[in-house]
Amino acid sequence: MQGINLNNISVDPVVLQVFAENNIEADMLRLDKIHPLVSGNKWFKLRYYLEDAKRLNYQCIATFGGAWSNHILATAAACKLHGLQSVGLIRGEEIQHLTPTLLKAKELGMRFYFITRDNYRGKNLPAKIHEDLYVIQQGGYGRKGADGAATIFDYCSAANYTHICCALGTGTMAAGLANATVTSQVLAINVLKTNFRIKEDIKALLNKDRIEPVLINDYHFGGYAKHHPALFAFMNKLYQQTLIPSDFVYTGKLFYAIADLAAKKYFPPGSRLLLIHSGGLQGNDSLSNGTLIF
Ligand SMILES: *Cc1c(COP(=O)(O)O)cnc(C)c1O
Repeated sequence: MQGINLNNISVDPVVLQVFAENNIEADMLRLDKIHPLVSGNKWFKLRYYLEDAKRLNYQCIATFGGAWSNHILATAAACKLHGLQSVGLIRGEEIQHLTPTLLKAKELGMRFYFITRDNYRGKNLPAKIHEDLYVIQQGGYGRKGADGAATIFDYCSAANYTHICCALGTGTMAAGLANATVTSQVLAINVLKTNFRIKEDIKALLNKDRIEPVLINDYHFGGYAKHHPALFAFMNKLYQQTLIPSDFVYTGKLFYAIADLAAKKYFPPGSRLLLIHSGGLQGNDSLSNGTLIF
């Protein structure tokens, strides 16, 4: 399997009319380029868990996710690279035909257990599992996940920017970025509609005296993995103008939100934005052909 190539990470200027018109500069941190399967931020969130598991002599990692989860696939791939086994605890009924995401994870050696939504919510392991498992929470949520996400700034300097803009699922990345910045504000675009505990979840991962990320809740397009023709139109236009591909679950909503906020004069003139491209492109495989031009 292809290794993770951190040397591929680049910081690219994003030239869009809406930024120029509003006297804003924007760069994009291309974490999507490190690996085709280990999606952008997931490798950073996983790294310290995997190190910890190896240090404690675990052979097998288990984690939670849905059938299209970037985290499931990234965990399968990262475990394979580390010589660890992996188990995916997948939300919902066992499915007849595995999704492309789960098929790829299976090829990487991951075994699956399908668990009911109640057990998923309760983070209960199936009783039939008797192995010693190192369990990582959904999305890599937790201290080690946030500490790993903070190392994203090994690849660009937060101090160059007034705003660090990222997509928000579990909030682990946003918390890690906030822990690692002193002068810039972290702006997190919530891609979920009903994660009502998200503020507490983020707070639990913030170092003392850190400034909380600013949450923007108006760009979920109906909820997690929900979409709208306007979102696809924007993603296609962004690709035409910049050759930057995005995914419809996270980064598409992030980039849409930032362009829209810029048009609405949310950012003071002279702002310098860093947009985190956190990967996730494999999720676009769930869309019907022709929806996206890339
Ligand atoms: C998981 C994921 C996120 C969200 O990260 P959290 O730390 O869970 O908030 C953002 N972008 C992509 C592409 C992801 O796969």
